[in-house]
Amino acid sequence: MEEIRICPEHGYYRGEECKCGFRGSVILEKERVERLGRFISGLLRHFPDRFKLEMDKNGWVEFDKLVKVVKRRYKWANQWLIKAVIYSDEKGRYELKDGKIRARYGHSVDVELSDYPEAKEEVLYYGTSEEEAIRLLEIGIKPVNQRYVHLSTTLEKGEEIARLRTDDPIILKVDVKMAKKYGVKFLKVNKDIVLAEEIPPECIIDVIKK
Ligand SMILES: [Zn+2]
Repeated sequence: MEEIRICPEHGYYRGEECKCGFRGSVILEKERVERLGRFISGLLRHFPDRFKLEMDKNGWVEFDKLVKVVKRRYKWANQWLIKAVIYSDEKGRYELKDGKIRARYGHSVDVELSDYPEAKEEVLYYGTSEEEAIRLLEIGIKPVNQRYVHLSTTLEKGEEIARLRTDDPIILKVDVKMAKKYGVKFLKVNKDIVLAEEIPPECIIDVIKK
């Protein structure tokens, strides 16, 4: 996790230099970025109830209410620092709209994200380990402790995810068109990630070893 700085032209960014080369001053140091980020994503993905944060069926909560919960835990926090974390997030984890906020992916709570657009990709990728791949080829890809299966839009992103868990990544290639015939819906939540409820084993059409 990197500290957050601000560029007069491009707004909040992470790291030392903005993409334009500008070196802004630090507005939130690393450790606080990490703490805030972990708490916000936890609230929006896993434990809104624990903090009495009301979430609708599509995963939205009132931004003001989230700010209140965060401030109760971290006295130094405020809505601007929370927005800094959200807007500088390079993985596109959050969506902030009309005074409401939600996580785009990563939920373990039961949410319905079917309002996201249908993915147009013809193939998608799922990064995993070798042992896991053998099992998935048999039973298909199902969410484990998560509401949805998370697929990657590119081979590279699939490999990146697999490398978080193993040094010998396996990337499964999914035939989207075929899966749609099985009734699978593909929700495109950001440029890198597509969610689905389940991928039947027949729709895994290639196993790529990296
Ligand atoms: Zn800039």
